[in-house]
Amino acid sequence: MTIIIDGKEISKKILAEIKAETKLLYDKYEVKPGLAVIIVGEDPASKIYVKKKRQTCESLGFYSESYDLDENISEKELLNLISDLNNEPSIHGILVQLPLPKHLNEKKILEFIDYEKDVDAFHPINQANLFSGEPSILPCTPFGIIELLKRYEIKIEGKHAVIIGRSNIVGKPLSLMLLKENATVTICHSKTNNLSYFTKQADILISAVGKPEFIKADMVKENSVIIDVGINRLDTGKLVGDIDFENVKDKTYAITPVPGGVGPMTISMLMKNTLITCKKLSF
Ligand code: NAP
Repeated sequence: MTIIIDGKEISKKILAEIKAETKLLYDKYEVKPGLAVIIVGEDPASKIYVKKKRQTCESLGFYSESYDLDENISEKELLNLISDLNNEPSIHGILVQLPLPKHLNEKKILEFIDYEKDVDAFHPINQANLFSGEPSILPCTPFGIIELLKRYEIKIEGKHAVIIGRSNIVGKPLSLMLLKENATVTICHSKTNNLSYFTKQADILISAVGKPEFIKADMVKENSVIIDVGINRLDTGKLVGDIDFENVKDKTYAITPVPGGVGPMTISMLMKNTLITCKKLSF
């Protein structure tokens, strides 16, 4: 029987653990994890993500500040706000929702966030720490994937993990995290020749491409573990991952569905990062 990895359930458990620890922190030290969420402009998808993050903060008993900024805000104004938040002791995490409007230099803005409050882990210092094998803050989606594997007691050490996708937010950091867990890691991308040669060798296959039903049953190894990071909206409105789930699932030992797999983990790990930075900065 294939294990369907229930990211929704694990995510709920993690949030419950965070909530309990938040209460303890407050009862004992009157400290609350504080997250500032900044959104610039009116991108509808970004607005939904930000709303969910704010609601989750509230449900956990976090302190949160919201900044809905005008599309035309200047870079200087945004940097001034970040500077204030960097210096604000009640704020332990600063999140700038991406993408930003074109006139704003994304790299410059993300690098301006105090790396100790960089709960998305996009700052070069956090990336470098991950690279050196001594991570400080972990990027949320890869962190969620590792957590899913661990909570399902899926052995990583010694396994061949094949990642499809080399983005800075998923593929690259995940490769370093799996390496730290002693997996043998292969990274594939759009220029990889004979992709299925690699995918068929994977004990753990992670797809972060963004193409519906991209991975077919004949591309995966029997009894492998499949993690589907892809989020693709079909013309019918249906949400699907990168894996041809119905045809692949019976061949696998365990697989994440879309929706309800990796997706719900990302926000939980953001909250976990805020709790971690709160403890680090408060004591
Ligand atoms: P991205 O920056 O667009 O990266 C996509 C990667 O896929 C690139 O490395 C690209 O290769 C590779 N690729 C494209 N076509 C390919 C092909 N035919 N064969 C092999 N590799 C191919 O995307 P991302 O930000 O990492 O996101 C990937 C997917 O995950 C998207 O669907 C996104 O919505 C989803 N996502 C989900 C979560 C979550 O919380 N569940 C979080 C983040 C992202 P090149 O580098 O050569 O272009």
